[in-house]
Amino acid sequence: MTHERIRKVIEGNGPRPNLEDYDAARRTFTWSEAARALDGLPSGRGIHIAHEAVDRHADGAAGARVALRCLGADGGVRDVTYAQLRAQTNRFANVLGALGVSPGDRVFALLGRVPALYVAALGALKHGDVFCPLFSAFGPEPIRARLALGEARVLVTTEALYRKKVAGLVAGLPDLRHVLLVDAREDPPEAPGVRALGPWMERASEAWTIAPTAIEAPALLHFTSGTTGRPKGALHVHGAVVAHHATARLALDFKPDDVFWCTADPGWVTGTSYGIVAPLTHGLTCIVDEGEFDAERWYGVLQDQRVTNWYTAPTAVRMLMRAGDALPRRFDLSRLRFVASVGEPLNPEAVVWSAAALGRPIHDNWWQTETGGIMVANFAAMDIKPGSMGKPLPGVEAAIVRRTDDGGVTVVDAVDTDGELALRPGWPSMFRAYLHEDERYRRCFAGGYYLSGDLVRRDADGYYWFVGRGDDVIKTSGHLVGPFEVESALLEHPAVAEAGVIGKPDPVAMETVKAFVSLKPGFVASEALALELIGFARKRLGAVVAPREVAFLDALPRTRSGKIMRRLLKARELGLPEGDTSSLEAGG
Ligand code: ATP
Ligand code: MG
Repeated sequence: MTHERIRKVIEGNGPRPNLEDYDAARRTFTWSEAARALDGLPSGRGIHIAHEAVDRHADGAAGARVALRCLGADGGVRDVTYAQLRAQTNRFANVLGALGVSPGDRVFALLGRVPALYVAALGALKHGDVFCPLFSAFGPEPIRARLALGEARVLVTTEALYRKKVAGLVAGLPDLRHVLLVDAREDPPEAPGVRALGPWMERASEAWTIAPTAIEAPALLHFTSGTTGRPKGALHVHGAVVAHHATARLALDFKPDDVFWCTADPGWVTGTSYGIVAPLTHGLTCIVDEGEFDAERWYGVLQDQRVTNWYTAPTAVRMLMRAGDALPRRFDLSRLRFVASVGEPLNPEAVVWSAAALGRPIHDNWWQTETGGIMVANFAAMDIKPGSMGKPLPGVEAAIVRRTDDGGVTVVDAVDTDGELALRPGWPSMFRAYLHEDERYRRCFAGGYYLSGDLVRRDADGYYWFVGRGDDVIKTSGHLVGPFEVESALLEHPAVAEAGVIGKPDPVAMETVKAFVSLKPGFVASEALALELIGFARKRLGAVVAPREVAFLDALPRTRSGKIMRRLLKARELGLPEGDTSSLEAGG
């Protein structure tokens, strides 16, 4: 299963990577130095995400640069310059003021990837509110649960989404005072507090001064993906912008004139930290694609928009792989300089595939809603070991630990030994609370570390390898098996499109490994194919680790952000209750 390293040779032409010497950068990097790359509010009045993302780029000639290039679902293209974004976000801040919203209130958005979402996010921050994005494909119950948990004061949405999903919820949400419809012409007469936003925006002033803002002032509320249970609300502060900016420079290799496309929806932390904040703080042009995944169209976007840096997810990469190798050859992807992915383990096969099919290897990186920014990454200048998530960022002190019975931790120093990934608090984008769950927040910390809940190992060269989520790891015949390793092996078989692996209780082995796979077009499920896959995995992994059973599914249950929900595979296998499925993708 080991692939050759992908060697990086930095050539004389082409821009040099921002991080050229990893060890030197680790030695010299400090967060206070990183903060100096930002502006700070005028006359030393603190730091504010929207000032760094918008206002500082909006004056003079720089203001004419395109901040958002919005590709509509209808094929239309709409550009928003930095100067326009400043004017629009100022207006929105004034609207919130005119409505009597208090700074510190929570403003939610339930919107597709349209300009109004970006205006609402940054405008709410300017007003001093906490912004929380919701994924627009959520059904009424996940929307209700998050609005209630987050004590939403304002919801920004569209007329259609309001009628279809929100109207029936309002009576049960006493904290919710205002629903603002970005596309309605008039206020719906039957619903007090529900307003057409347009006329308010037109009346509002384009002038706004951001109030002094402490580094620790709350800014963003993000719900976790709900892969392992009920989603948690993670709260982030304005000072996080230092990490958004610095990590994007180091791990996404942003350069001043780059065109950046983050395919994650702002309903997830990736789509906000790196789909809104980080690229705008660098003054880049962001591609905002309203449409859904379509392999041909996506390659078209990369080509036509001359995307230089692209940040996507393993599930999307596997869908591109499924669409075949001939397709990307029809497109000119020569502008593409740096590709990264996050959210799930990136199987080695996908890295090798991308190097050949896209002409650029995908750089896996690791982080969580809780960490607010990239923590472990494959950097542009570093050799890639396919299947590894890379090395900790400069400024991020990572360790591998085991929890002890007395509530502490011991650090695992040995190479190639599994343990929990732990991070030393101190990076600016660390979450400051789980909303209404103080005890749970406290339990995330022990021995001076934040404990991630993910198992990893580190090799002799300092590369980190994802083993599995703590909850997903399988104990079989005295061995610990990470589902990712088994899934990666299965994904090397030409018939397999997706794989999800669980442990099934067994009286002798404790658990046995069971795999669920979906097939690529042209392959048909059969007993013979199941046996072939088991044999294939055995050759690569050995009999202990290889699945003992393979079952076929048309599609694996996934979160709306594309993560395989192994806990659902397991619950279904064992006939147990499915638990919280509010994040489950439709049809999963
Ligand atoms: P929940 O916490 O509600 O169960 P979640 O953990 O999936 O959901 P996120 O914060 O969106 O919510 O995802 C972070 C998790 O995603 C990580 O803890 C890790 O398990 C997984 N992950 C992210 N990036 C990678 C990666 N590069 N390799 C492997 N796993 C990754
Ligand atoms: Mg999590």
